Amino acid sequence: MSDQFTLRDLFDKTGAAPKEKARGTDIFGFPNRSNQRRFPYYCISGEEYSDPKGHLASITFPNVQIPFEKLWQYPKINPGNRRVRVFCSCEAFQYWGAAYHSTQEGYRIPGTGSEGRSPDIRDPNGTGYLCKHLIRVARRVVHQTFPQLLKDFEIISSVKKSYASLIEPTLYEFLERTGVDQNKIVNTCGSLNEHNWEQVLDTSGMLVKTDSLGG
Ligand SMILES: [Zn+2]
Repeated sequence: MSDQFTLRDLFDKTGAAPKEKARGTDIFGFPNRSNQRRFPYYCISGEEYSDPKGHLASITFPNVQIPFEKLWQYPKINPGNRRVRVFCSCEAFQYWGAAYHSTQEGYRIPGTGSEGRSPDIRDPNGTGYLCKHLIRVARRVVHQTFPQLLKDFEIISSVKKSYASLIEPTLYEFLERTGVDQNKIVNTCGSLNEHNWEQVLDTSGMLVKTDSLGG
């Protein structure tokens, strides 16, 4: 079992079809403050015009030992060449190969579940290493330095108030798909606000909890 993939490796191992689907997807960093070792990107695909909710595609760098507040000082470290772990809240990640490959090959972010069933029908060539959202993230990050990546996660005050409303439909669908009781879904989504959204997403498993080095 390999446990050393970089985003560049995972992008290269991923087949052509999801890469084609990833075109036109807009992404931006979803700033969070309680855990600065995770980087969730809000991704919204151009082809999902009939289903306008986006998804959260997260990456972490378990081997980067420099405290993240100091990464600003390391402009030559390229995150695309560091070992990475990934997770996406979307259905394709769960069912089309990425959940399986990431579980089996050790690049799934710990605490986001596991998948032991090989999706032989939906991923017949075994190349579904990343969903289209993570492909889009990879395309961006492999060309960045860490200071550039961190800049994508600065809180933009004009956007701040809309994070909760932006993520609510995504959270609803995610909880429904993961088998959460309907009353609880309604209560959880109803409680989302501009102050607690990070904590609610964290508790719901949409934001990854990992804060560990190595492992
Ligand atoms: Zn995805």
